[in-house]
Amino acid sequence: MPSERASIAPRRARAAAKLREQGFGALLVSPGADLQYLAGYQLFNSERLTCLVLDADGNATLVCPAFEAPRATVAAPDIQRATWEETDDPFAIVASIVPASGALAVADQMWASFLLRLQDALPGREFAAASVITRDLRMRKDAAEVEALRAVSESADRAYARILERPFAGRSERDIGADLAEMLRAEGHEEVGFTIVASGANGASPHHEAGDRRAAEGDTVVLDFGGAMRGYRSDITRTVHVGRIPGREEQKVHDVVRRAQEAGYAAARKDASAESVDAAARRVIDEAGYGEFFIHRTGHGIGLDGHEHPYLVRGNRERLEPGMAFSIEPGIYIPGRFGVRIEDVAVIAADGSARPLNQADHAFATVA
Ligand code: ZN
Ligand code: ZN
Ligand code: ZN
Repeated sequence: MPSERASIAPRRARAAAKLREQGFGALLVSPGADLQYLAGYQLFNSERLTCLVLDADGNATLVCPAFEAPRATVAAPDIQRATWEETDDPFAIVASIVPASGALAVADQMWASFLLRLQDALPGREFAAASVITRDLRMRKDAAEVEALRAVSESADRAYARILERPFAGRSERDIGADLAEMLRAEGHEEVGFTIVASGANGASPHHEAGDRRAAEGDTVVLDFGGAMRGYRSDITRTVHVGRIPGREEQKVHDVVRRAQEAGYAAARKDASAESVDAAARRVIDEAGYGEFFIHRTGHGIGLDGHEHPYLVRGNRERLEPGMAFSIEPGIYIPGRFGVRIEDVAVIAADGSARPLNQADHAFATVA
């Protein structure tokens, strides 16, 4: 398995080449997914500036508080540091490092308060969102990233298998969500991002937050959860039935969603457009007569961010390529009644087909 560390310096070289191509002087990256991607270093964003400066020649300097330097040295030993003490002005330090010419690409996730200070420290310079550089790079996962996504997806699969062993009836969504979070951690997640437990009519709201409603016999329950391992994110949805036998319409809707997801997989191939995957899944739901109840796009890219490019949505003509990883998550949401969604993370493999990274069963599972 390729090491993650070894894949990071080549990413900076590719980013620098893009900076040159597009006439940028440097890339400025504060804590967030781009920093993890380009430095292999992560920390909580705080009012103290940490900023990677990558210039168009490929020189990288991490501007960081002096007391954070030991941690940064361990995480990113190959990147030089410019440290600042509590009474220094870190923005002036960044300004002294950036090349004298060329526009500056700033991490999309940089706080506005930092950007405003940088604009003051670098008057007259042109600033742009870093995604013009990082989006294309991050969208095409290298082997180490695909491996990390596979590991975190399989961890989420195991959490799903375990939640099915617990009773749902009579328990609040919040309680079931807490179980899911505990199981994600027990199965290797270092961070739990979200646990959507949407029972009965709550299932008709795609991003319903687990609340006080108690699941009851006969309910359909949407479980959508994920988090991160080594920075890479999981995101899986399965819909379960509380009790022995699902109602006829619930079973029918689940079958339609399952077929829609399979159609999405079949359409997701190298060189297919992102929107064609959405169209393929949507067609199945439309033809079954539930088109008006599929109220969101079919999927989103995933990696160091839970939602990133490419987005599987009408209007996105972007072509899929090996290494692109994204969710395929059609759903049907019937207001006042119930919802069904099935979601896996898939990656375009070297042979051009879409491979699921999640292996959890797609059947309409029943729970007690
Ligand atoms: Zn979502
Ligand atoms: Zn999800
Ligand atoms: Zn998702």
